[in-house]
Amino acid sequence: SPRGVTGTLDDCACDVETIDRFNNKEIFPKLQKLLSSDYFRFYKVNLNNPCPFWTDHSQCGLKYCAVKPCTPVSFSKFIQLIFSYKYSEAASQDLEECEKAEKLGAVNGSLSDETRQALQEWKKHDDESDRFCMLDDVDSPESQYVDLLLNPERFTGYKGPEAWRIWNSIYEENCFKPYSVKRPLNPLASNSGLCVEKRAFFRLISGLHASINIHLSARYLLDENWFEMKWGHNVSEFQLRFDKELTEGEGPKRLRNLYFLYLIELRALAKILPYFERPAFHLYTGQPTEDNEKKKLLLELLHMAKSFPLHFDETALFAGNKKEAIKLKEDFKLTFKNISRVMDCVECFKCRLWGKLQTQGLGTALKILFSERQIEAMPNTSNTNPSFQLSRQEIVSLFNAFGRISTSVRELDNFRSLLSNLKQ
Ligand code: FAD
Repeated sequence: SPRGVTGTLDDCACDVETIDRFNNKEIFPKLQKLLSSDYFRFYKVNLNNPCPFWTDHSQCGLKYCAVKPCTPVSFSKFIQLIFSYKYSEAASQDLEECEKAEKLGAVNGSLSDETRQALQEWKKHDDESDRFCMLDDVDSPESQYVDLLLNPERFTGYKGPEAWRIWNSIYEENCFKPYSVKRPLNPLASNSGLCVEKRAFFRLISGLHASINIHLSARYLLDENWFEMKWGHNVSEFQLRFDKELTEGEGPKRLRNLYFLYLIELRALAKILPYFERPAFHLYTGQPTEDNEKKKLLLELLHMAKSFPLHFDETALFAGNKKEAIKLKEDFKLTFKNISRVMDCVECFKCRLWGKLQTQGLGTALKILFSERQIEAMPNTSNTNPSFQLSRQEIVSLFNAFGRISTSVRELDNFRSLLSNLKQ
């Protein structure tokens, strides 16, 4: 039966080396270049949405959880001058980023006329459609542009019962699976009676969870004093989370789920190529030369994604009895929307920012995968509204979410080298 195509889903392990080679040498460098451009670095998000599920949550007081506007450059320069003899590399890098942001008029939320005009252009292209994910109301005064380059995903110290409550709520209530983080179960190890779609859903969430935990281990706060913070790889943190022996065999499975998530998002990028190839599509940044250059880079990346030889076959999903498949797809959508709402309950703002972005990105990938007919029906040349639309927020989250997963795959390589150096 079409439902029986489970091998494609479960056999990601044998693809790991191909994915590593493909990602680390080809995709990763190009994607990083693209994500540092103006179009992709500014993400509009409402970090003040109230949590719709519980009211007793506390405010996170951890300083690394803050999503900060950039320190005004003049002040940073003053500090740099005073402490120039001991000014850290990281801090001067921050300073450079501040200057870039100030040029773009993004400091302290005030946008230059040029950027504002470009954002208006993007808005014209936004449209409601068949979403897997809750999108923030970008017109709400609470929604703000965040410069993602100034707020990297890394260790924040967010942990304990608050963080567990989020993961627990996702797995237990929103993952088609009676699953408790206190008593971890592995729904893939046994035949848990889950259909292929529901198992895939669990793997996507678990892959996302693995990616977040790789990032916090790779950009861990190693040392801090008055003058500088030292961020870097924490090998023992990584081992505690992913080593086979230390996790009762769960770690490697979680890493395979990360590769599974990679394949799903890569497939979505390959499928969405026609949308971006239309001459009517522009990356409005207010600078036509840069727009054209970045569109060229984007298309190169998507062609590269399309050329991947071992693509995931999504037709295996929702392929059974039509009525059942429609119901299952609706369940899938509803559950995924719920997960995106759970993100509004994450107390740590930095974690909330990246959690929202990544669930939105994954939701967009799923929307693409299940809109094959609409994408195919898109007119090639006309400027009229195509049958398939993506909002700017969806585009930015899709590419940045894939950027996170691609970086995780790259970081795994770094951890492998660090671990083998330790053994020698
Ligand atoms: P947790 O990671 O909290 O996991 C809880 C339990 O879930 C584990 O004991 C295990 O049973 C199970 N589990 C763990 N990993 C997986 C997996 N991949 N698949 C299936 N089950 C699994 N911290 C930061 O420092 N920086 C961040 O940017 C950040 N972002 C976050 C974003 C969100 C949305 C959330 C909910 C948390 C975030 N955190 C972040 C916190 C981080 O993910 C951990 O919760 C925290 O470090 C505590 O880790 P832990 O070892 O207690 O296990």
